Amino acid sequence: MTDQPPSTVETMRDVLTELDASRPRSIQTTLGPSELGTTCSRQIAMKLAGLPRQLPDKRPPWAPMQGTAIHALMEEALQRHNDQLGRQRWLIEERLEIALDYEGGIYGHGDAYDLDHDMVVDWKYVGTTALRKAKRQSVPTAELVSTTYRTQAHLYGYGHWKAGREPKWVRLVLLARSHDYDDSVEWTEPYDKNIAVEAINRYYNILELLKALPVQDNPALWGVVPSAPSDDNCAWCPFRRIGGPADGTGCPGNTEAKIDKQVAGLIAA
Ligand code: SF4
Repeated sequence: MTDQPPSTVETMRDVLTELDASRPRSIQTTLGPSELGTTCSRQIAMKLAGLPRQLPDKRPPWAPMQGTAIHALMEEALQRHNDQLGRQRWLIEERLEIALDYEGGIYGHGDAYDLDHDMVVDWKYVGTTALRKAKRQSVPTAELVSTTYRTQAHLYGYGHWKAGREPKWVRLVLLARSHDYDDSVEWTEPYDKNIAVEAINRYYNILELLKALPVQDNPALWGVVPSAPSDDNCAWCPFRRIGGPADGTGCPGNTEAKIDKQVAGLIAA
């Protein structure tokens, strides 16, 4: 009996990791609406300043990669639906101008826009926690989804408004990362230009702050850039680095809190 061939799971780990690293999203230097929605100004500022990102894990970012694949599937489905209808109900992956600035501006591609209902549609491919949160009965609509997702949806609405449309609604479709499509839920609220304008003004303020703070000469000044550590913000932050103060090498984010929790768990065990 000869040995089995080498593991394909192992081979694909490297192949997928390298594929992800080569994609435009991974090497982009400009910001998009998804980044503008975060409540952490420091994360936006570090992206704008071009700080080196933490070395990626030697594992493929499996959840975001599945999200990308699902987006491609939904795009194909909407295109087919338009073809079946013989008209354009859906605008798909429309390039939108969100804000202009001396850095070149903020642009983004909206997942979809339903012309029949003047509605932004944004796909999110999520697990059970986000699905459960979105279904809560006793929570105001605005708090059922993350601020980042909500702001992003309104920024797309703003982009469509700038393109001459009259968005009335924004909708996040939370597609279930499960075996059953019917586990999916959706979240909808009226389009509110103020939410988008507030995010854009905050972005302009961060640009001004970066101009005023000599962080390159004095990296310790990163500590005065407002931050908002949280699981939502820090989990995928490319600057999160365990320990030490915020400086030109990264930001500890919520890692201290996580370590504290782990220590508490060990003590309790
Ligand atoms: S690690 Fe967290 S607190 Fe620090 S910049 Fe990133 S998101 Fe903000």
